[in-house]
Amino acid sequence: MIEDDSVALVTGASSGIGAETAVQLAEAGADVALAARREGRLREVADRVEATGSEALVVPADVSERDEVVRMVADTVDELGGLDVLVNNAGVMLLEAVADADPSNWRTMIEVNLIGLMNATKEALPHLREGGHVINVSSVAGRVAGETSSGYSATKFGVNAFTEGLRQEEADNGLRTTLIEPGFVETELADHIPDEDIQDHTEEMLAEMDVLQPADIARAIVYATDQPEHVSVNELMVRPTGQG
Ligand code: NDP
Repeated sequence: MIEDDSVALVTGASSGIGAETAVQLAEAGADVALAARREGRLREVADRVEATGSEALVVPADVSERDEVVRMVADTVDELGGLDVLVNNAGVMLLEAVADADPSNWRTMIEVNLIGLMNATKEALPHLREGGHVINVSSVAGRVAGETSSGYSATKFGVNAFTEGLRQEEADNGLRTTLIEPGFVETELADHIPDEDIQDHTEEMLAEMDVLQPADIARAIVYATDQPEHVSVNELMVRPTGQG
């Protein structure tokens, strides 16, 4: 359950799903630490969090850098007095066909989407209070791979595997884990696709559909978080109705 003294740390909180999740967790009563690289954007989200009456902490961090992840968690615990919910949401989607791929883009995706999430989880574990919760934002691409998503899907399949292993290891300790698997959501994610044709194709596909908004996924995250302690919502896949 989200209580008035709950503390959440949301990565990738500077835009899209992370920003909305931070605001909705705050509306539900949690104080929220906001992590990402763009400090100015985090400050704008912090204003929205504070407007709900909850406390906001801006913790600029690149989750692909282990020392920054360590500091991110430590600053959250020190400044907000503890930690109850970690939302590992930071991610990049650099879609490319294998034959054309720049391997450094694979490395970036693995380091942000997977290693960053693993490090944040490991650092958070000793601090999570009773009823603690780790929410990992995966994707439909974490269940089904497709053309041009091989590298991205490899990271999200990894997120799913890591989350299930963690669930089994920590169930006896009362840790709750949730995998969130969104379909198409209107965010800045597609802006960084390096291949112009794939980016155009993705944007056309999104334009044809009544896609999800970040708030739709944030609601799923708040639903999973705001359950009694004996209820662990392990997996939620949320697609736009029109996504085949
Ligand atoms: P956005 O691009 O809007 O948000 C991505 C967030 O990740 C930003 O806040 C960005 O902040 C942060 N981020 C990226 N790289 C780093 C880094 N190295 N260190 C810290 N933060 C980083 O896209 P979404 O909101 O869509 O993405 C959120 C999550 O949702 C991702 O994990 C994505 O894979 C997943 N998802 C999205 C879907 C969609 O259709 N949009 C579908 C399925 C899953 P900054 O640049 O300031 O660092």
